[in-house]
Amino acid sequence: MFEKTGVPSEKLVKSRFPNERYLNSFKAITECYEEIPCNPCETSCPFDAIEVGIDINTPPRVDFDLCTGCGICVYSCPGLAIINVMLEDDDAIFRIPYEFLPIPEVGMKVKGVNRFGEDICDGEILKVKEGKLQDKTIVLTLKIPKEYLYDFVTIRRLT
Ligand code: SF4
Ligand code: SF4
Repeated sequence: MFEKTGVPSEKLVKSRFPNERYLNSFKAITECYEEIPCNPCETSCPFDAIEVGIDINTPPRVDFDLCTGCGICVYSCPGLAIINVMLEDDDAIFRIPYEFLPIPEVGMKVKGVNRFGEDICDGEILKVKEGKLQDKTIVLTLKIPKEYLYDFVTIRRLT
């Protein structure tokens, strides 16, 4: 399916997630499935938690024991292919890269969108981070219902 549509299967998506017991704090999820010559995720992680290795075409692997959830990789990936996620009560809390204008505001209600571009749930913006180090990539923190943990990929503004 991935080769034809560009949409990864649920099995492929889940292969990038840790066991849910890790998700009591933020962890990095790399939605990077193809063999491409790229490694800023590896070089930007201050905790050596992402490995691409000697062959720069190897898709990245995250060591969830080393990942502190600092979020640096989210805005360091030129492909916008990394998110951070954690679970809290009935919510999944995501950090996602966002490069559209206008910039969403804290408290804004949004739609959660899946990998097919479909609205799947309601969400709320919790934090908006922008800074010089981020090369103009905004990092949004938002919450959605946790049953959409493996389906959610981005947001759609309502206004
Ligand atoms: S969230 Fe921080 S510690 Fe985890 S992989 Fe990304 S840069 Fe490394
Ligand atoms: S920086 Fe992003 S696109 Fe490049 S290898 Fe890492 S996850 Fe993939």
